Amino acid sequence: MSSAFGIPKSSTTFLLPKLQNLHLADRLRDDPSAIELALSDYGNIVKEIPAAVLYPASINDIASLIKFAASNNASVPFNIAARGQGHSVRGQAMARNGVVVNMNSLRNNRNGNGVKVVSSAAASSMGRWYADVGGEQLWEDVLNATLEHGLAPVSWTDYLHLTVGGTLSNAGISGQTFRYGPQISNVYEMDVITGKGDFVTCSPIKNTDVFYAVLGGLGQFGIIVGARIALQSAPKRVKWVRMLYNDFSAFAGDQEYLISINNGRDEQKHIEVDYLEGLLLMNHGPLDHWRTSFFPSKDHFRISSLITKYGIIYCLEIAKYYDDSTLNYSVDEELQVLFQMLSFVPGYTFEKDVSYAEFLTRVQIDQEQRVQSEGRQWDDVTLHPWLNLFLPKSHISEFNSGVLKDIVLKRNITTGLVLVYPMNRNKWDDRMSAVTPDEDVFYTVGFLHSSGFDSLEMLDVQNKDILQFCYNAGIKVKQYLPNHKTKTEWKNHFGIKWETFRERKAQFDPQMILSPGQRIFNNN
Ligand code: FAD
Repeated sequence: MSSAFGIPKSSTTFLLPKLQNLHLADRLRDDPSAIELALSDYGNIVKEIPAAVLYPASINDIASLIKFAASNNASVPFNIAARGQGHSVRGQAMARNGVVVNMNSLRNNRNGNGVKVVSSAAASSMGRWYADVGGEQLWEDVLNATLEHGLAPVSWTDYLHLTVGGTLSNAGISGQTFRYGPQISNVYEMDVITGKGDFVTCSPIKNTDVFYAVLGGLGQFGIIVGARIALQSAPKRVKWVRMLYNDFSAFAGDQEYLISINNGRDEQKHIEVDYLEGLLLMNHGPLDHWRTSFFPSKDHFRISSLITKYGIIYCLEIAKYYDDSTLNYSVDEELQVLFQMLSFVPGYTFEKDVSYAEFLTRVQIDQEQRVQSEGRQWDDVTLHPWLNLFLPKSHISEFNSGVLKDIVLKRNITTGLVLVYPMNRNKWDDRMSAVTPDEDVFYTVGFLHSSGFDSLEMLDVQNKDILQFCYNAGIKVKQYLPNHKTKTEWKNHFGIKWETFRERKAQFDPQMILSPGQRIFNNN
């Protein structure tokens, strides 16, 4: 192992000599570039210095490290955090004085075999096409490999440079969630190395406790090294549409109507959409996110005038997948019928026709274009004090007036996207660790702020005020990608699931060594 550099003595003197004795020593690094990567994340707000970083060549390396950490040989157990892409925003993938497992290294060591697609006749007759993928794989890798077979996963995140293990540790949500559930609802089986170092294959019929604990389990019970992901036939093309609303209740009403179709609550035949999200358009901050890539420049002036007139414009975003070779079918005609049922501002619909892959990689394309035009790096020193919430539908209007209008619009400091869209709770599985509000329909609201050091405090205060508003108004909000500081906050977060969560921790990670950056069991 190379010598430590720039790391406080207290961390290295404690752990490094012990690690030297492991047969993994040549895959453990504590040089500045390894440490630099592992002490930071996308949020750029929290910094935690690990003693070393493991660059695993195989999943056995991960198992050996965890076994050693949890065993008496380590004399004092040390913490371990899997780091997917480090796209957390509050240090969740860090391990102060412990070891960070760089999952990317496993990806490099799979030699292109990280995604295996099973599309045999037997699999198809069971209606179960699937892909066996490494936990370290990016969703973009999964997309590319499955598309070669004309197949694709059913549920996505907006951005695909995230790891399978990282999103399955949270939920993995996007505009398909209302229809197919989050990514955690579309996993048949997983291979996990628990906090005891045991390799366990788990599914809804085998080692079920591990399966349900790990899905949405915030990395607390084991490291996901493999997942069997449900696939469907991949669509060829996508009609991607945005419609503008000045009235929140019309916007929310249309969103709720659209997600009720194909959820068994609508008797008549209506037009189904494949994807649904929503976002706010405001004339805030230096980055006019709404302008980038989607709206034609010739329409910017009239959209801008609409925003100036109303302060906030609500933008409903839908997609309809289609196959351009289907005879006697016109997606455009279907969309026209659909438009007649909705209450957007007349004349304010905008459409794009893109390939399925272009649609799924839209955020990357958009980001790359934006950073290029601004002459900076994608992962530069911008801070990201994000706040993501799940809110019960019954309080969404109150949230609009008390938060979106009274806090976000009035303070005029929000930079970055604000997403607002509903989901159906019956597509989530309550046996899993992920938590949602206790209503059939709930909204996700994501404040995806970008800031410099100068505006961080203001945005943090705004985030706190939003949570305080919810608390005062009795809105039982849950944080998605949660960031809590005290045991009491975590207990409230998990609610009736807390005892099960705690018991599972004692069972699968009794030394409490995994993912300390979540600060659930190791909040010091
Ligand atoms: P990391 O940040 O590296 O890790 C997250 C947590 O999971 C840590 O606690 C870590 O220790 C643990 N972990 C990592 N890998 C494993 C593993 N293999 N097994 C067990 N535990 C593990 N989320 C959505 O749901 N939908 C979105 O549309 C979406 N878009 C995003 C866009 C951007 C630009 C960014 C930065 C984030 C977005 N996210 C989204 C959030 C994302 O899902 C989380 O950051 C998630 O943690 C995945 O990121 P990651 O793979 O980098 O995991």
